[in-house]
Amino acid sequence: MTNDATLSSPRLASIDRRQILLRTVDVEKLIDDDHSARSIWELVGRLDLSRYHAQIESVEGRAGRDHTDPQLLISLWLYAYSRGISSARELARQCEFEPGFQWLCGLEAISHRTLSGFRSENKAGLDDLFVQVLGMLSAEGLIRLERVTLEGTKIKANAGGNTFRRKEKLEAHLALAREQVRILNAEGEQEESTAKRQAAARRRAARQRASRLEAAVREVERLQQEKKHDRKEFVARASSTDPDAHVMRNGEGGTVPSYNVQLLTDTTHGMVVSVEATTAAIDYRQLKPALQRCVTTLGQKPKQIVADGDYTNHASVQAAADCGVDFYGSWQDSWKPTERDACGRSGDFLASAFPYDPKRDCFTCPAGKGLTRRTRLHRGNGVHTQLYHAGKTVCAQCPLRSHCAPPNAKPAWRRAITRIEEPATTTAFKTKMATEEAQQIYARRSQIAEFPHAWIKERCGLRQFRCRGRLKVSMEATWACLSYNLARWFSLRRKFELAYA
Ligand code: SF4
Repeated sequence: MTNDATLSSPRLASIDRRQILLRTVDVEKLIDDDHSARSIWELVGRLDLSRYHAQIESVEGRAGRDHTDPQLLISLWLYAYSRGISSARELARQCEFEPGFQWLCGLEAISHRTLSGFRSENKAGLDDLFVQVLGMLSAEGLIRLERVTLEGTKIKANAGGNTFRRKEKLEAHLALAREQVRILNAEGEQEESTAKRQAAARRRAARQRASRLEAAVREVERLQQEKKHDRKEFVARASSTDPDAHVMRNGEGGTVPSYNVQLLTDTTHGMVVSVEATTAAIDYRQLKPALQRCVTTLGQKPKQIVADGDYTNHASVQAAADCGVDFYGSWQDSWKPTERDACGRSGDFLASAFPYDPKRDCFTCPAGKGLTRRTRLHRGNGVHTQLYHAGKTVCAQCPLRSHCAPPNAKPAWRRAITRIEEPATTTAFKTKMATEEAQQIYARRSQIAEFPHAWIKERCGLRQFRCRGRLKVSMEATWACLSYNLARWFSLRRKFELAYA
């Protein structure tokens, strides 16, 4: 019996986890021929990286360590964002085992400090890269600037809501931070050589904290100065962690410290042509700067621009007209016709029911009396508010007074109505937007404008910035948009190759 049972039991290979192996790795074979890491490397190799090379101090014929190749660092970041990695530490970790990163690095380790410093150090170099890629896309007919969309999205800043402080509190923290810097500097002079690196890191961190607090104090003073005419009781606060971040309302209805990232997207193939992180909580005044950025970076303005109701106002319409750009937007009138006004009037006694005679510049009331212009006020952006009054004694004797006057009107009361005189550009804009063609152009806006925002948040992992300060945050957004443009380009190339295979 025993012998039969031994014979029928399966014979399994044992696993030995105590062994140490030496393996040969063919780096070229780590990834397929059509892997996206190869495409990114090849494309970055075609770009002019002289702006990055100009900053490298390590040169041939001199002592010192070799500098990491900017082509490698750029490729690593673009590939990282395409895989939803926005953390330098995570990128450095992935370089140890992920085949795409291993192939790019040639199996060499790379420090997260090198990666994180490179991402936010050379704004001019990154802007140049972005424009060079746009130039390549334009040469292939993928960008035409016939029509662009403008859209903003709020992305969380690297700062908590509880880091916002008043000026007095910030100044107290700043005094402590300066004292800390002074103590660490004094200690540094007697430091043993073994602990020098840690001491230098502590000094650097203390200096950065003091510098952030100085920036926060400046920001509080700026905000207080800016708002003192609007609201006397306003008390400015700034974040001690990221002084440029502002508390903004996000899509979920909450308020968190954020940046408002503005993207201009070309409608030909959905490529992002301009990216900027702003500190404006609303999009109201963002159309003009977006057009100026487009002209500055690309040397060309778009023929048409489409933006939603948040951007559509007198100033934007005028700015687009001044630039010679055809603007399509959704005008939202602040005044809406109602059946009954605030004083309880209705029907023919509503101000909107009073017929206006442009020749006489006069309104006529239901009693047949004229309301003539008395005051003309300038409201900015070419908008004027006109005030029209009935005659001094007319309303006192009117038999219809009970329908026209508010319930608590004094005997000397007389009817007054206002008329807003729009600039000609706004009237022309509204007439254009009433046409079917303009409505069709506007209807296609959301799909094109919102797609890159969804991509950089979902695919590039940019739901919260890793960097602090508007400049660095703008650079982070630019890396994500550059990665988005490349992914879109490679996808279009694949589609094109399949169509003509
Ligand atoms: S109260 Fe004055 S404005 Fe109103 S209907 Fe009479 S006259 Fe006209």
